[in-house]
Amino acid sequence: APILVWFRTDLRLADNPALTAAATATAQDGTPVIPVYIREEDGGDPWLPGGASRWWLHGSLERLGKALETLGSPLVLRSGDPATVLESLVEETGAQAVLCNRRAGPSAIARDRRVGKRLTARGVTVHPHNAALLYEPGTIRTKSDTPFRVFTPFWKALLSMPEPPRPTRAPSGLTPPAKPVSSESLKDWGLRPTAPDWAGGLRARWTPGEEAARERLAEFLDGPVAVYATERDRPDHDGTSTLSPHLAFGEIGPRQIWHAARHAAAQRHELASGAEAFLRELGWREFNHHMLREEPDLPDTPLDARFVHFPWRKDESALHAWQRGRTGYPIVDAGMRQLWRTGWMHNRVRMIVGSFLIKDLLIPWQEGEAWFWDTLVDADIANNAGNWQWVAGCGADAAPFFRVFNPILQGEKFDPEGDYVRRFVPELAKLPSRWIHKPWQAPDGVLREAGVRLDRDYPRPIVDHGAARDRALAAFGHIKTSG
Ligand code: FAD
Repeated sequence: APILVWFRTDLRLADNPALTAAATATAQDGTPVIPVYIREEDGGDPWLPGGASRWWLHGSLERLGKALETLGSPLVLRSGDPATVLESLVEETGAQAVLCNRRAGPSAIARDRRVGKRLTARGVTVHPHNAALLYEPGTIRTKSDTPFRVFTPFWKALLSMPEPPRPTRAPSGLTPPAKPVSSESLKDWGLRPTAPDWAGGLRARWTPGEEAARERLAEFLDGPVAVYATERDRPDHDGTSTLSPHLAFGEIGPRQIWHAARHAAAQRHELASGAEAFLRELGWREFNHHMLREEPDLPDTPLDARFVHFPWRKDESALHAWQRGRTGYPIVDAGMRQLWRTGWMHNRVRMIVGSFLIKDLLIPWQEGEAWFWDTLVDADIANNAGNWQWVAGCGADAAPFFRVFNPILQGEKFDPEGDYVRRFVPELAKLPSRWIHKPWQAPDGVLREAGVRLDRDYPRPIVDHGAARDRALAAFGHIKTSG
């Protein structure tokens, strides 16, 4: 009987345990393999893919579809409730097994459990594998058998585990079902925006798909990784791997990255310390995913319960200014515009814009999380929630709340010439570096010469950072004593 391979956030052929298991059966006895992707329409789930992710998904499915066609069994696209869709596919094809890889997030896990129950009741086996993580959540625990809440000991414990399994190769062929299975058309899914078409910047910047992911990793490990430890904090230098959207869609897996980075470091000694720092960041991804499994409310509720009573402000116009990159703080605005234009933002700048929203504006971190969810091509439920809570000071191993980033000093330190700001806030491009992070302090003559008219071309700061900082600390004092 045929096997259904249900693709989700694992849109790759190599190192895909569910697909590998199905392909092994094909190779042994010619069992037909039917690859499926289901577009889920569940109005109640806030964590279905956002706008930028849907754009990426289209490109990723297009490429996966072509690759599967070459292997011999085309990808079947269906829409609806996954339990119902899989039941009807089982009915149509006589499949006896559904293979898939686990995905993250409480609502996805709940849906998968329901699917498992419904199919098992019909005698169909459902077998989930691990494709997304180095190790299964729950396998890395403290000596007293509790989950880690602090990163460094978690990372040490991870490093003392047996090496993660070596990645498997893409299958060399798949037997198709005897009778073709009907598929919806990707074009009809409307994953890409049409009017207005806001995706021009995404198209110019990214190539989704497994092949692009593999090439990007190879390119990064071929040199740039050597200086990663020092360059990773410089948004003006593009010193990071930019693998995050590929990871979010599972076009590449962490085990492939792990072994490739280790291999590169063993071959070329000068890459070793950079590779180590790079893998440590992958460790943060692992940490957040393991934590989300233990703390399913992480995307909505502060881990530190005192923050439930935090005196947040509701300020639609400040939120809008933040979202559109019009706060008057150039490093914040450059980050938010990079996000809007390209679907991605440098990690250092994510921390700066996050601190600004939460502490300078006193707007709840969940607002930032929701905006990122919709606009990031690498939106990942565990990393997004874990990092927002980290910036807010209510997460695991978080930065303390009273550490408030100064957006001027952060800009001057990490974008010293202002090149990053110039790239994304072109109206300030002609300002000398000395003033680029604080245009409202520049003398009139300098502004005139640079062609900057404050309030007209570029806003003055929507809050005074010093006053905002005092207000944030007072608000924090309030919960400290009430907790
Ligand atoms: P590199 O520096 O090359 O790192 C390699 C990989 O390690 C990344 O692709 C990513 O998978 C992982 N990684 C790196 N930094 C972190 C981190 N701080 N936490 C967890 N994993 C990390 N990352 C997402 O993948 N999805 C998100 O939705 C997301 N939201 C974020 C929200 C905020 C407020 C902040 C501060 C960070 C967020 N991050 C998120 C983490 C980080 O900013 C991105 O993973 C990173 O910028 C991706 O770029 P890169 O692939 O070039 O990273």
